Amino acid sequence: MTTTVPTTGAAPSTTTPKQASTAKLDAPALVARLRAGFASGRTRPIDWRRAQLKALRTLLTERESELLDALAADLGKPRLEAWATDIGFVINEIDYFLKHLRRWTKPARVRTPLATKPSKARVVREPLGLVLIIAPWNYPVQLSLSPLVGAIAAGNVTVLKPSEVAPATSAVLARLVPEYLDPDAVAVVEGAVPETQALLAQRWDHILYTGNGRVGRVVMEAAAPHLTPVTLELGGKSPAIIDASANLEVAARRIAWGKFLNAGQTCIAPDYVLVARGLEDRFVELVRRCVFDFYGQDPKASPDFARVVNGAHFDRLVGLLDSGTPAVGGEHDAATRYIAPTVLRDVTPESPVMQEEIFGPILPVLPIADAEEAVAFVNGREKPLALYVFAKDASVVRTVLEGTSSGGACVNATLFHVAVTELPFGGVGESGMGAYHGKASFDVFSHAKSVLKRATRPDPALAYPPYTERKEKLTRRFL
Ligand code: NAD
Repeated sequence: MTTTVPTTGAAPSTTTPKQASTAKLDAPALVARLRAGFASGRTRPIDWRRAQLKALRTLLTERESELLDALAADLGKPRLEAWATDIGFVINEIDYFLKHLRRWTKPARVRTPLATKPSKARVVREPLGLVLIIAPWNYPVQLSLSPLVGAIAAGNVTVLKPSEVAPATSAVLARLVPEYLDPDAVAVVEGAVPETQALLAQRWDHILYTGNGRVGRVVMEAAAPHLTPVTLELGGKSPAIIDASANLEVAARRIAWGKFLNAGQTCIAPDYVLVARGLEDRFVELVRRCVFDFYGQDPKASPDFARVVNGAHFDRLVGLLDSGTPAVGGEHDAATRYIAPTVLRDVTPESPVMQEEIFGPILPVLPIADAEEAVAFVNGREKPLALYVFAKDASVVRTVLEGTSSGGACVNATLFHVAVTELPFGGVGESGMGAYHGKASFDVFSHAKSVLKRATRPDPALAYPPYTERKEKLTRRFL
């Protein structure tokens, strides 16, 4: 049986962010049931893991339209964006796992030193046990199911807590996952803060949390008494730096795309732009043209531009518009939670829009003298989740990449590093700890157990007391 705590029957577009659940969650009973599932050994065989991954893939293809409808209800996600960034993304991840899983699970032989011989040593990947995944609302399918792929592939049992802020997607996941996956190994719990806290009060073998740093701290505190390891996938202000040597047209197009995708509600969206002084006017004009090319004369009427997730975020974002002068966009409509793709000028580093992660379609543009000043600007703030540098001059790229620390980075691109399954995805400092995707997911949800097997013969007296001068000489020579 899969546990599902429904939150609401109301239309998703009118729901408030923190809804009360209507059913009581019995977290200890759920944990006990899943632990029994793990103890039964059902999740260990590679064939079971592969079958579960294939079943998850079938869910994504067979029930695609239900998922797309939910994503549209929660975020007004355009179908192509929703398919590529939520559904197709996880399908790719599954295919990659199906291709490599057998190899990753094979014990890896390592060489042994003379002192241990005759012996064999191996690194054996074992599942951790019970995993908790807490997901956010902005890519609610991807950020729920992509960690789940890693947890299943590594042989764990898992509880998934989707975000109540995307209630339609949360409900559809809670309904579909038990139809396709082994209910004794995967459970979906719907709910808001009380349910998440009830889950966090249990003992887990790993917690992967995606969301903001404030709740990241709550997760770490809850994990500490049990020494439960955590992966925290957080956010931050990811800069885009445009050097004077850059192809400005390409930079504007790629930044506009990365910023306005999902209406800016992307953890690795370029948060603000530092552009070489003197190029601001032209950059803003190029972004204006991109917005027109992407979304037409009236982006509000475009089916390709998403909406802000709820009223609270809408109000917060509208407040941030006062931090500067809208040079592009600036229009907004509370009834449909529409905020136009916006470029803000006359912003200072002290402006409110530069104090918090924007997480909406507002792009502040600040002039900067050169790469050194850009590096100092970035280093004066918390380490970002992503950093984007646009330059043809290789020394500028080097200065920026070597001079700063960020979860990930792209040169002459935005967002695309996340599409490379072989690149671990994660933050550093305030933007998170740990990483996943591809092999990194398998590693994070499994323990690398070191196993040494020695022959019983010979068993030379050399290693055992009493220690003699001869033994010491031999030990120093051969150890
Ligand atoms: P959110 O409000 O949906 O919260 C995330 C999860 O935490 C939800 O499941 C929610 O139920 C739970 N939660 C919220 N408050 C809680 C509390 N007090 N105690 C326990 N659990 C609680 O999502 P959010 O935080 O608004 O997400 C946006 C943030 O996530 C941004 O900062 C963004 O950059 C970041 N993010 C990071 C990544 C990444 O991969 N690094 C991806 C997406 C979003």
